[in-house]
Amino acid sequence: MDDARLVRLKELYSDVSYIDQAISLLSWDQETYMPSGAVMDRAGQMSTFSAIYHRRITDPEIGKLVGELGNAALPEGESAIVREIARAYKRKTALPESFVKEMATETSLGQHAWQGARAKDDFSIFKPHLERILELKKREAEYVGYSDRPYDALLDDFEPYMRSRDVDALFSSLRGKLVDIARRISESGIQPDESPVTRGYKKELQERFCLHLAKTLNFDFERGRLDISAHPFTSGTRRDVRITTRFDEKDLRNSVFSTIHETGHALYEQGYSEENYLTPLAEAVSLGVHESQSRFWENIVGRSKPFWKFMLPSLKKHFPTMKGVKLDQFHSAINIVKPSLIRTESDEVTYNLHILIRFEIETAMLEGKVSVDEIPSVWNEKYEKYLGITPPNNTKGCLQDIHWSMGLMGYFPTYTLGNLYSAQIHAAMLKDIPEFDSLVASGQFMPILNWLRERIHRKGKLYPPRELIQRATGSAPDEEFYVNYLRKKFSEIYGISL
Ligand code: MG
Repeated sequence: MDDARLVRLKELYSDVSYIDQAISLLSWDQETYMPSGAVMDRAGQMSTFSAIYHRRITDPEIGKLVGELGNAALPEGESAIVREIARAYKRKTALPESFVKEMATETSLGQHAWQGARAKDDFSIFKPHLERILELKKREAEYVGYSDRPYDALLDDFEPYMRSRDVDALFSSLRGKLVDIARRISESGIQPDESPVTRGYKKELQERFCLHLAKTLNFDFERGRLDISAHPFTSGTRRDVRITTRFDEKDLRNSVFSTIHETGHALYEQGYSEENYLTPLAEAVSLGVHESQSRFWENIVGRSKPFWKFMLPSLKKHFPTMKGVKLDQFHSAINIVKPSLIRTESDEVTYNLHILIRFEIETAMLEGKVSVDEIPSVWNEKYEKYLGITPPNNTKGCLQDIHWSMGLMGYFPTYTLGNLYSAQIHAAMLKDIPEFDSLVASGQFMPILNWLRERIHRKGKLYPPRELIQRATGSAPDEEFYVNYLRKKFSEIYGISL
């Protein structure tokens, strides 16, 4: 029988989860349907609910219960529930309320300044804000604590239990290999034809096709919705997942791959176990693992030839302009590798170089090795060094991402970790499902989804991310799987040996 203290802890935590769900719905509404006149009220609602959330998760009763239960002998699942609630409690109580408010104010002003700086291409507008945010992040690291480097305290919020030295180890061997692959592709002089995906596509037709795509990939519309927003995202819970996409009438790739990406995130959420709902065992273990699910469906499945062998006929039915496009042509057009300035528009090879640059700058900033003043020049030097291109201005350079203005430092590495995990998961899956390609080519995605459900989704936060990957794939996170995946895939597409 359940320990009464555990029952009480779960009860308190389910309240916290419901508050969190309400905040996320308010924010989904703000990005999709909210009329602009509601903006002030929404800010008020968000700050009130956030304060309630903070109060509930730092409730001393939770602290007392996790303290007592932390020493009790519990089954694996329940001890993970206690461990993870204790983690959340500890992190939130480490930050004084005055600090939380200061951070909220500075990041709200920071985002506003960042938008202005971008519009005017003037880094000096954002600079004093970023300096203050950086100081606050340094203080946050001190409050939270770390055993090795201050960056660890920030990273831990997004990729629990991971240290910057683990990221360093993965990224430092990745860097040279990616630079080499990108350089050899660009030196091949081969440039696939982009026209099969830039032929003009009516919004209404794209919307219909995107719904069809999500359904085909087993997104459960009884427990979720697909809507439109300026920047695609996923939010929600196992029972109600909201995803969004956006449409570019000139370029089909935008909506199609955003939809597949967000569907991948949604499948993770919809795949948590029902019996552990409203506990940490039905929550994402980390942003890296979350991103591995979106990248798996977007790139490993969605940018593969077998996938379009299955989907191209349906794509042609939706879009009359696609008549006559051949599978090979289409496959090459959605896999063009080209160094570019903007992270969110980059390909599978160069994307991670954008992330490595941000990780290097963030860690250096936090350790005082790079001042905010120096960011534009350091940024441009790194782009020249890794990608062979120099941003013509800061809007296309160090001002392109919203993250730092929101106080999100330590977040960027999770994008590349997601890519690395996705390839490692695929390699492990191939051992169990050797007919992977033919399943994809015939639209049978359920065996693939079930593999992910069993080994990743249903586990929630049962194990720390590194252990989860190890158990699911048979080895600890390793960049070689991703590098091998890229070499094989792009050797075939570019007809060169990478
Ligand atoms: Mg994502």
